[in-house]
Amino acid sequence: METKQFKAESKRLLDMMIHSIYTHKEIFLRELISNASDAIDKLYFKSLTDDKVGLNKDDFAIWISADKDSRTLKITDNGIGMTEEELENNLGTIANSGSFKFKNENKLEEDNQIIGQFGVGFYSAFMVAKKVTVISKAYGSDKAYQWESEGVDGYTITEADKKSAGTEIILEMLDDTDDENYGEFLDQYRIKSLVSKYSDYIRFPIKMEVSHSRPKEQTEEEKEAKKPLEYEDYIEIETLNSMVPLWKKNKNELKEEDYKHFYTEKFFDYNEPLKYSHISNEMPSYNALLYIPSKAPFDYYSKEYEKGLQLYSNGVLIMDKCADLLPDYFSFVKGLVDSEDLSLNISREMLQHDRQLKVIAKSIEKTISNELKKMLKNEREKYEEFWKAFGLQLKYGVYSDFGMNKEKLQDLLLFTSSNEQKLVTLDEYVTAMREDQKYIYYATGESAARIEQLPQTELVKDNGFEILYLTDNIDEFALKSLMKYKDKEFKSVSADDLGLDTPEKKEELKAKEEESADLLKELQESLNGKVTKVALSQRLKSHPVCLTSEGEISLEMEKVLNSMPT
Ligand code: ADP
Ligand code: MG
Repeated sequence: METKQFKAESKRLLDMMIHSIYTHKEIFLRELISNASDAIDKLYFKSLTDDKVGLNKDDFAIWISADKDSRTLKITDNGIGMTEEELENNLGTIANSGSFKFKNENKLEEDNQIIGQFGVGFYSAFMVAKKVTVISKAYGSDKAYQWESEGVDGYTITEADKKSAGTEIILEMLDDTDDENYGEFLDQYRIKSLVSKYSDYIRFPIKMEVSHSRPKEQTEEEKEAKKPLEYEDYIEIETLNSMVPLWKKNKNELKEEDYKHFYTEKFFDYNEPLKYSHISNEMPSYNALLYIPSKAPFDYYSKEYEKGLQLYSNGVLIMDKCADLLPDYFSFVKGLVDSEDLSLNISREMLQHDRQLKVIAKSIEKTISNELKKMLKNEREKYEEFWKAFGLQLKYGVYSDFGMNKEKLQDLLLFTSSNEQKLVTLDEYVTAMREDQKYIYYATGESAARIEQLPQTELVKDNGFEILYLTDNIDEFALKSLMKYKDKEFKSVSADDLGLDTPEKKEELKAKEEESADLLKELQESLNGKVTKVALSQRLKSHPVCLTSEGEISLEMEKVLNSMPT
């Protein structure tokens, strides 16, 4: 049987490519710069073994220039260039990636920085341009060629003039419409910000002639006469990218200032971070910079807050907030991850949800957890500051997902203690317990001050036992999820049985209760069903009466549950 080849309606295919792969038009610049960087990488790679290239690493650069009058944007590189045949194959064939081939042929495993792989990025230029011209001269060839296309209708290739090896890409921008402004991509500020957003860590300099204006020098007489300043324009060549990613630098070269500066710039936070950590991980291989903010962002505890880390692949930004990299209980962490071996989706805006990402996420979670434990141990004050900002989130973490993560989080929790209202960990509480103490006691209320006044706390305190003061709604739910800590159960001070009475005392109380049965019954009836039972108690000292709860649910928890929508 003959196997037939699929045919493709290439015009339709190209149209689909152009209009459906990318969600943001602005990424065309990232794609063209990435291609230029790949082309330079290839020639640089050659230059390592071929003296005839005659270029040093510092000679390589990518140039951008914009001309508003002719509405053209030019991206030039002095990389490897393309022969006529390569123009045909690489730009005339959808989904053909010369870069992918190059990587395979040259077995670039170590230090592989080449970005291209899908063979579609180039066409993103047609999202913003009505006409694309590519003038290219391949390294080692003495002829240059010009490839030209207005999109779906095809392309032409003709001979052209170009002195040195490399490629020049000229976009004639689409006309502006009511909805779309393509002219903005010719604006120098817009270009600068796009480069720093997506291509800041391309390893070769991206240069542009930037025009500035400055006051003209005045003569002494003019100054004397207070003549108004006149301004003049001048042009300066600027390198728009910072090239070396901070996270790929050697830790020894970096100062605390560098990390802090990077954070405030990148994450738009005026406050210095409380803590940072720089990770270079092998297996899975990634670099990361992680930060804990010193204050919760204003929308942190709202639905608007979006968690996530920036995700880079080889120094090119892929996603601004990759949520899959952080568990909810660590959603306050800011930072970025750069990995060379991610399986990117074709648009490079998303990832294939693959094992690799999960492995990285796991490793990051572990790092955060270890950092927090270290901080708790060595920098208590700082940790308490952290706790005030984000403790609530950790308590939610204990309670949510059916308590799946409680083991991971229980040692990070702090509670206010009846002991001078200091913050204590569960471990500290249990370590300080007397041998005859059966339970971890807690009391719930609006504030520590209110709880101190509760009659129910008196007896426990008189026994010399510490009490945890729970003042957030979530607190008791979190403890209930934990159930136990180091084999000690939690006990509300308003629980029926506090475990303080000896069997003799219990007998004594029972006898008294029988004696006063009539009185108790009368009291209960007069309360008209507002309480389930009226009983005698030995827990009271300076108060005549108090409320207690039977069973597992405390009074405060009942209040929370009653206030929830049903
Ligand atoms: P990819 O970069 O994923 O391979 P593109 O559609 O962006 O796909 O580019 C297709 C191919 O065209 C590249 O693989 C490369 O071989 C070639 N190419 C594109 N731009 C340039 C350039 N500036 N210099 C040399 N070759 C280029
Ligand atoms: Mg590309």
